Amino acid sequence: MGSYFRPNMLHDALAALAEGPRVVLAGGTDHFPTRAVTTPDEHILDITGLPGLRTIREDATHFHLPCLATWTDLIGAGLPPQFAALAQAARQVGGMQVQNTGTIVGNLCNASPAADGTPCLLALGAEVELASATGTRHLPVEDFLIGARHTARRPDELVLGLRIPRENARSTFLKLGARRYLVISIAMVAANLVLDRDGRVRHARIAVGACSARALRLPALEAELVGQHPGQAVIRPDHLQPLTPITDMRASAGYRSAAALELVRRCLASLGEARLAA
Ligand SMILES: Cc1cc2nc3c(=O)[nH]c(=O)nc-3n(C[C@H](O)[C@H](O)[C@H](O)COP(=O)(O)OP(=O)(O)OC[C@H]3O[C@@H](n4cnc5c(N)ncnc54)[C@H](O)[C@@H]3O)c2cc1C
Repeated sequence: MGSYFRPNMLHDALAALAEGPRVVLAGGTDHFPTRAVTTPDEHILDITGLPGLRTIREDATHFHLPCLATWTDLIGAGLPPQFAALAQAARQVGGMQVQNTGTIVGNLCNASPAADGTPCLLALGAEVELASATGTRHLPVEDFLIGARHTARRPDELVLGLRIPRENARSTFLKLGARRYLVISIAMVAANLVLDRDGRVRHARIAVGACSARALRLPALEAELVGQHPGQAVIRPDHLQPLTPITDMRASAGYRSAAALELVRRCLASLGEARLAA
């Protein structure tokens, strides 16, 4: 027999997870569509009653996106340019109802290869904060995501939120789908650049989603970009080497690779143009 528990104290939520595995429920916009009929023996831990886990906040070194922050909360938070990519992704997730209900953390924890938020979080250098009855730990998003639908979260852990280092960076996000809205991505790219006074790249994070079991960064390209003007950089197919795109009903592997390459070029060109216009 299944059960449903909606605590209003974090301590009770963590105690419940310590007793045995439960399905953590936030907005439910990933969970429910994948369960046509709720499994009768499912033990649900609904975290929407936990206080203090919705408001995005900042301190001297980091921004903190708590686990109940929705896409709409992010769009309205007035975050600096380093968050532009994540805000662009937020505006394209589902429709307004999904954006009002779905959480950024739920998108990450669901670990879909096509989760639009994940490349943006990789590009932001985000870390995941995990809490259990015995303590907390932080993992970079790279280490949190193990593969398609697999994360490093232990069954007794709750993801409390995301910690993002403050950077004087600019970022952008591009998504390709079979249509403009309400679509699962064929490929998407998030780019985050710190530029020097001359507009040359000082530091880069570029991440691609839907082209491998989990979204991945492109370390060779990131290293090569340093010292270059982003709009003038030559992007080659070998820069996509970590990716392992598949052929499915949405696109062939070859099309995905070509799309990813073009999206990377366009992201860098637009960040270069934005710099010239500034
Ligand atoms: C019509 C529609 C359109 C959509 N469009 C898009 C789209 O364009 N792009 C896109 O990327 N996604 C899309 N989605 C998927 C979904 O809306 C997002 O991924 C959303 O952000 C998920 O958040 P949630 O809070 O609803 O997650 P939930 O469904 O509540 O949870 C998702 C998973 O994460 C786990 N989880 C959630 N929170 C925590 C936590 N704090 N700690 C540990 N585990 C946790 C849950 O157990 C579950 O396995 C769409 C969904 C629908 C229904």
